[in-house]
Amino acid sequence: MKIAVAGAGHGGLVAAALLAKAGHDVTVYEKKQKSELGHDWEDRFTFSLLEEITGKKIPETAWRYRGDCSFVSPSRTSSVVINYNDSNRQKIMWRKYLIGALLDFAGESGVKFEFGTDVIAPLINDGNVTGIGTSKGECKSDLVIDAAGVFSPVRTNLPDSFGIEKMPARGDLFYAKRAYLNKTDDPAPNTPFEVCLCHNREQGLSWCCVNEDSVDILIGRIDPLTERKFEECVADFRLLCPCIGTDILHGGQSGVIPVRRPLALMVAPGYAAAGDSAFMTTPMNGMGIDLSMNAGRLLAETIIRSGSADIETLWEYNRQFHVKYGGFTSKNEGLKNSLLEMPGEGVDFLFDNGVIQSSDLAGAGTKTSVVSLLGKFVRGMRNPPYFFAIIKGLIKGAKLKKALESAPEKYDFDTVMNWQNSIKIILVKVNRK
Ligand SMILES: Cc1cc2nc3c(=O)[nH]c(=O)nc-3n(C[C@H](O)[C@H](O)[C@H](O)COP(=O)(O)OP(=O)(O)OC[C@H]3O[C@@H](n4cnc5c(N)ncnc54)[C@H](O)[C@@H]3O)c2cc1C
Repeated sequence: MKIAVAGAGHGGLVAAALLAKAGHDVTVYEKKQKSELGHDWEDRFTFSLLEEITGKKIPETAWRYRGDCSFVSPSRTSSVVINYNDSNRQKIMWRKYLIGALLDFAGESGVKFEFGTDVIAPLINDGNVTGIGTSKGECKSDLVIDAAGVFSPVRTNLPDSFGIEKMPARGDLFYAKRAYLNKTDDPAPNTPFEVCLCHNREQGLSWCCVNEDSVDILIGRIDPLTERKFEECVADFRLLCPCIGTDILHGGQSGVIPVRRPLALMVAPGYAAAGDSAFMTTPMNGMGIDLSMNAGRLLAETIIRSGSADIETLWEYNRQFHVKYGGFTSKNEGLKNSLLEMPGEGVDFLFDNGVIQSSDLAGAGTKTSVVSLLGKFVRGMRNPPYFFAIIKGLIKGAKLKKALESAPEKYDFDTVMNWQNSIKIILVKVNRK
């Protein structure tokens, strides 16, 4: 089978490698040059998954631990500190190492690469995706794997009749800028990693992480971020953390992070999306590397097992993704959107009254449930509208999980459309500006 992978996203590289190993003719079309791939910052993901997929041990020199973390309320009156132990302390790795490991694995598996090639749109013939149009011409294929990220030109140019959601709604994305600034000799805070919810009373979050050699700052907002806003937020952090310098040592780039449920429908005849192109991240914290790699592996294994990439096989990938990962990770979307809908004083109330505790935040909201919140009923009822808003978010999140995990067993376009439409009505929308 001839397979075109649009973009060298993490899931696309994993699928490409496994499919090439199985004897398929796979080419990755990537707009950047090889040396430009991978952000200049460190990320958290499951290292054992990378080892399992590539079959190579990660050297100790490729990563480090991140310090303890405190979540701070908008008014800074309360914070919830998470003290990690040796078994759950966060590990982070430079993105360039990760992408390098996946590129090596794909290359060694027989994948071909066309770097410096801009994918422009899918080629469509008679209701099928038959390849991609690129800056270097048309490339026909039996299957297009879309790994071109959140604004993929393949997904966004599919015909409406395919029923695949093209553009995210407000609140579905975080516009982020991240920079490692130099660290001065001035005092540093006690808890090295501070995450501020509704920082400066704006919808989003910011973090300031003091490392041995630098201070890693990330500002994320649900509306596009200006340079001035970034500078204002850094200045605000500097008031409490005077050791933040002014020289950028790493990063300094902006990125867009999906913070929503994955696409319900992510396949069409000749087309499958994996990674950010299908919005595969944990809504609460935007982590998408594990989900992308798992999706790439699932897609490849499903195709290899079936011996075909027909729509029934691709649908099986789509369905299994939701059963294994999509449903579970989506369940905190309702909680996250309820928090975004709430003014800063609502989030303050939840922190100040212990309605939100470290157990709720350590697992990116996945451990929070209606049952766990009912235990805080008396405290929550000091301000019923805010308490019930998050209860409602959790109930809708639980329904969303169940709905995604109940994707139709067999592919039938009308049935799949009805299922997708039934999901739209259980979402918590972000309307507050
Ligand atoms: C600031 C920031 C911090 C993050 N931290 C974490 C973290 O700690 N842990 C975690 O799990 N996730 C994190 N994420 C999210 C994570 O980056 C993504 O979820 C993950 O990379 C999966 O995305 P992807 O590989 O599908 O897409 P991308 O990483 O966006 O890759 C898409 C690829 O497609 C290429 N491309 C795009 N358009 C075209 C085109 N037209 N033609 C050809 N090629 C194209 C791009 O150049 C890129 O190489 C973070 C994101 C940001 C922005």
